[in-house]
Amino acid sequence: MPDATPSLPNLLLASSEIDRDAAARAGHGFVRGLLQDASTKVLEVFGDRTALDGRALGWRAPSAADLDWYENEGVVLYLGRAGESARLALLRPADDSREDLLTLRHVALDLDHDDLAALTTAVALSHWHATHGHCPRCGGATLPRQAGWVRYCPNDESLHFPRTDPAVIMAVVHPGEGRDDERILLARGPRWKGPHRSVLAGFVEPGESFEAAVARETFEESGVVVDGVRYLGNQPWPFPASLMIGFVATARTTALTPEDGEIEEIGWYSRADIERGLAEGTLRLPGRISIARSLIEHWYGAELPDEGGAA
Ligand SMILES: [Zn+2]
Repeated sequence: MPDATPSLPNLLLASSEIDRDAAARAGHGFVRGLLQDASTKVLEVFGDRTALDGRALGWRAPSAADLDWYENEGVVLYLGRAGESARLALLRPADDSREDLLTLRHVALDLDHDDLAALTTAVALSHWHATHGHCPRCGGATLPRQAGWVRYCPNDESLHFPRTDPAVIMAVVHPGEGRDDERILLARGPRWKGPHRSVLAGFVEPGESFEAAVARETFEESGVVVDGVRYLGNQPWPFPASLMIGFVATARTTALTPEDGEIEEIGWYSRADIERGLAEGTLRLPGRISIARSLIEHWYGAELPDEGGAA
């Protein structure tokens, strides 16, 4: 397996030892065979939620009811092989009556890397299946195929593949006169209130490179001109279908003109500003599962405490 270690350390959702074993997906009777093999491990996902077993996912052996679900065109997703066992996710509709079900965001800091990667993939595919029940060509109902990795239209025999939307996310840094004077650009969009601040981000447009998207999004959202765009790492972000590609960029201008409707607060923060803001509760950083947090800490040079100084 190639070394996929990102430049950003400890990036959650982004590392796994699961072998996706993609070549096996299209095999005739493959999923049926796994559902009749007691060594297979099955995870049930309801919409974007699942139940935990302690601090791990609730893996269990397959049952006869699972096979019925599959035979009736219920989605069974082959996640691959981990250790000695094949891993399947049964992708069920959301079930609001079950209070024991938790989202990926709820459980991300509890799970080990393999469980986290398995749930990230299952939640992403769950959303895709739930929103792609009809063929974009003819409007007919589509069916799951190839161990949950394809939807098939029986009308026109077209195949449809899950999508991932690339988005750039960037630490925009103004170098100033030296390390103490160096500042990072942090902002708050209308979705967040109060002291929340994060780095800028935006979707890559068709025909655009990552570097061009970093420069365009930064200029649109803040009015700042950047160069020296450098890749740092990436993270699947299945809320619902993003792949966040992280960069650092050097600001060549500092005047700020926040974009209407997109940015409500924006400012330059030195390392001392961040320490003071966290200590005083006037600054709140993105959660520890996010690449946004990793980008800020990578620039800062160490892990940061949460607001109020709590570790
Ligand atoms: Zn069709």
